[in-house]
Amino acid sequence: MTEKHYGGASGFGFKRKNLGAKKGNNLKDAKINEMEGGVDGIEGVNNNKMNKEAIDKIVRAGKIAQEVKKYARDLIKPGMKLIDIAYKIDDKIVELGGKPGFPVNLSINEVAAHFTPNFDCDKIAYGLLKVDIGVHVDGYIADTAFSLDLEEGKESELNKKLIEAAEAGVKASVETFGVGVEFWKVGKSVQDAIESKGFVSIRNLSGHSIDRWVVHAGWTVPNYNSGQTEKFEPGLYATEPFATNGLGKVKDGGNSGIYRLDREGNVRDNFAREVLGFIADEYQTLPFCARWIHKKFGTRGLLALRMMEQAGILYQYPQLIEVGKGKVAQAEHDVLLLEDGKKIVTTRD
Ligand code: MN
Ligand code: MN
Repeated sequence: MTEKHYGGASGFGFKRKNLGAKKGNNLKDAKINEMEGGVDGIEGVNNNKMNKEAIDKIVRAGKIAQEVKKYARDLIKPGMKLIDIAYKIDDKIVELGGKPGFPVNLSINEVAAHFTPNFDCDKIAYGLLKVDIGVHVDGYIADTAFSLDLEEGKESELNKKLIEAAEAGVKASVETFGVGVEFWKVGKSVQDAIESKGFVSIRNLSGHSIDRWVVHAGWTVPNYNSGQTEKFEPGLYATEPFATNGLGKVKDGGNSGIYRLDREGNVRDNFAREVLGFIADEYQTLPFCARWIHKKFGTRGLLALRMMEQAGILYQYPQLIEVGKGKVAQAEHDVLLLEDGKKIVTTRD
């Protein structure tokens, strides 16, 4: 999963109010943050103190994500149905002792992010496919992505170059990361790496800090020289460059079928209330998808989702589309910065 920025100078690269965590805290109090320290005691991982249990679980989620990436690389072939890929990845995560941290994103070509197949989706894998995988262990998240070239000839050459550029971007970013490093330096390292390969780094998509039960926490990790002089503090961060031969910007596309609980609230319908209770329990503030709800509750579950969305309880992520219809490659790693200055890339292949 990635973070899109909706215009204006304010906010990009800067800390936002951490609504997700606060809402999550209300939904399931005390579950969000059992870690000590920090300014307001809400932000979990991105505090000055991290306990051993938290670090262990973050590392374990990362190891599972590494295994699932290997599995997905072997599994995915051109022409496979996306729905089959998604179910197999879901199952593999559980088999390895984790749970999906969000629905696997399987976005193709100019769709930069946030596509996941619905239960009745008949789309197949082709083109330049981004595989963005989320794993959580007890709310501690790994968020990692790679891209696959599923074409032949000239298009295949282009895909491979874009993938190389995204990988060069994430490699540069991971190397630049460190406690005390200014944010702009990480963004510039990504931008330079991608531009040196002749492509454009998508500016309005960024990495993010990660808290317990919150994929997109307070900080954004820029993919260009944002000029931001704040410094990285100990915590968990996802860095995710997107390389394109388009214009370097995304816009909202159609509905994704990926949701998260957005605020507390209720629905009048009894069955919809049951579905809401399940979501609050099982996913808390993590993203989930219509296909999971359909699997558990059938078609009625989808109706319940619509009711919750209408009641303003659910947020549905839009698909994110490159505005120049360029092809997009993505690479993503999670960097855990420890208080002693050590750096662990928890999702390293
Ligand atoms: Mn991701
Ligand atoms: Mn991410």
